Amino acid sequence: EDLQVLSSLQSIVEDLHCQYKSLQKGVVANYIPELAKVSPDLFAVCLVTVDGEVYQIGDRDRLFTIQSISKVFTYGLALEDRGRDDVLTRVGVEPTGDAFNAIILDEQSKRPYNPMVNAGAIATTSLIKGADATERLNRLLEMFRRYVGHDVFVDISVFTSERATGHRNRAMAHLMLNFGMIQPNIEESLDLYFQQCAVMVNCQDLAVMAATLANKGVNPITGKRALQSTYVKDILSVMYTCGMYNFAGEWAYKVGLPAKSGVCGGIIAVVPNKMGIGVFSPSLDQRGNSVRGVKVCEELSRILGLHLFDCC
Ligand code: GLN
Repeated sequence: EDLQVLSSLQSIVEDLHCQYKSLQKGVVANYIPELAKVSPDLFAVCLVTVDGEVYQIGDRDRLFTIQSISKVFTYGLALEDRGRDDVLTRVGVEPTGDAFNAIILDEQSKRPYNPMVNAGAIATTSLIKGADATERLNRLLEMFRRYVGHDVFVDISVFTSERATGHRNRAMAHLMLNFGMIQPNIEESLDLYFQQCAVMVNCQDLAVMAATLANKGVNPITGKRALQSTYVKDILSVMYTCGMYNFAGEWAYKVGLPAKSGVCGGIIAVVPNKMGIGVFSPSLDQRGNSVRGVKVCEELSRILGLHLFDCC
């Protein structure tokens, strides 16, 4: 019976890919030229189970920058580096209902609302330990390597473009600096944030990263631990409530899985103890979520009964 389920997973991803290939809604991110020139036709879907089985279809080898999906993993490293209580004093866990790039802090605590929006991610990145900028970057890249199971690189032209144009992000860092909520070396923290956004992955990498979270922090392909198991629930909780920005509530209602999207058009979704889902399709809706990615996850959740609170 299990074998039948597995072979049907491949046909399910193939059917969904076929069904949504023709969906042409949305626009590719265009705030930097490197992202604007990406073809809206690119489309890949990948499932990786906690047993390390891989099911995928579409533009599987296509590399793209991870963008906001990186926020999930940097948050995990910050928790490991600083501990839960320390991190909580710097970044909250409350959904915003605002856009991912809103320049806003919690009135009372002066913290960014949560680590899944830009302000919170910049604060999180600034918590990564290391003697200097190089060591911090290397520790971050090492962390990504554990999740994907192979070497990763930063797309230098995306990084330099983000840095040259990232004045909104810079404004958030200045606002936090104004309240003494971030270390004074904000340009260094911003660099690290732009670098983490520019880490290159493919769709299977996304699914393996999600599967690692589904598998209590152990990469199911390499068998190596990427994250202390105690922090998996922290990460999945903020992904569930905040991972899809101001679409998080509707997503939680419909799809019912912890997830994270990025302006590259990637989405990861985690089915705890079962599998990781990765979708890549660059056209975004108005909230910055991949149009086809949202559809594919909605359908996967429905067909496979993945909603976490689906108990009947
Ligand atoms: N690099 C992007 C930014 O900081 C990431 C945002 C995103 O993927 N939502 O604006």
